[in-house]
Amino acid sequence: MDTAISVGGVEIDVVFKDIKNLHLSVHPPTGRVRISAPRRMGRENIRLFAISKIGWIKKHQGKIQNQKREPPREYIERESHRVWGRRYLLRLKEGTGKPEVSLGHKYIDLSMPKGSTADLREEVLQDWYRTELRAKAAPVLQTWADRLDVDLRRFYIQRMKTKWGSSNPTQHTVRLNLDLVKFAPECLNYVALHEIAHFKAPNHGDRFKALLDRNMPGWKRIREQLNEGPLPSI
Ligand SMILES: [Zn+2]
Repeated sequence: MDTAISVGGVEIDVVFKDIKNLHLSVHPPTGRVRISAPRRMGRENIRLFAISKIGWIKKHQGKIQNQKREPPREYIERESHRVWGRRYLLRLKEGTGKPEVSLGHKYIDLSMPKGSTADLREEVLQDWYRTELRAKAAPVLQTWADRLDVDLRRFYIQRMKTKWGSSNPTQHTVRLNLDLVKFAPECLNYVALHEIAHFKAPNHGDRFKALLDRNMPGWKRIREQLNEGPLPSI
């Protein structure tokens, strides 16, 4: 039975396989850690192994998290911004009323009162991203919750550095990473299913994978997209 252990504040997925030796890997983009272990190996030995490798794990997590980040946005004219997997050029306008964002074919128009700063423009765009993700995520999560017969009561959107989402079956809640709004909609769909599936299977073991296979046969390809796409800067 696959499981998860926590060592030095690092969550590690443990997968049992027909192998002779322990195998450790750290995966982009979030630095997820996995240990493959021989089927009959005891938990304590796996723990000791993880403890002996914790320095290596943290070093690699650090590297992965600094990889391929987009440079920080400055919220200036013609800067490129990603929405649902496509690039748009930012067009700034001076408005008189409240700030407004609108998405066109090639442009994302941001109308701000005179004298706006980059910080303010960022705040307005982030709010818009949040609203956009909330609107798209609500029906997607509900669809998966219904299909898997899960009682989901609330979901939250957060900026997260190391995860695309998380779930808390006891509280009946799911959290989604705000940056999902920058990836193709199928990525949101995958993360939604992933988190809902955790209500049925807490770790990433065989039962969990079977649930994904059954409900989204192409999930591995979508996960690659999330793991390999340029990471939004945080
Ligand atoms: Zn998971």
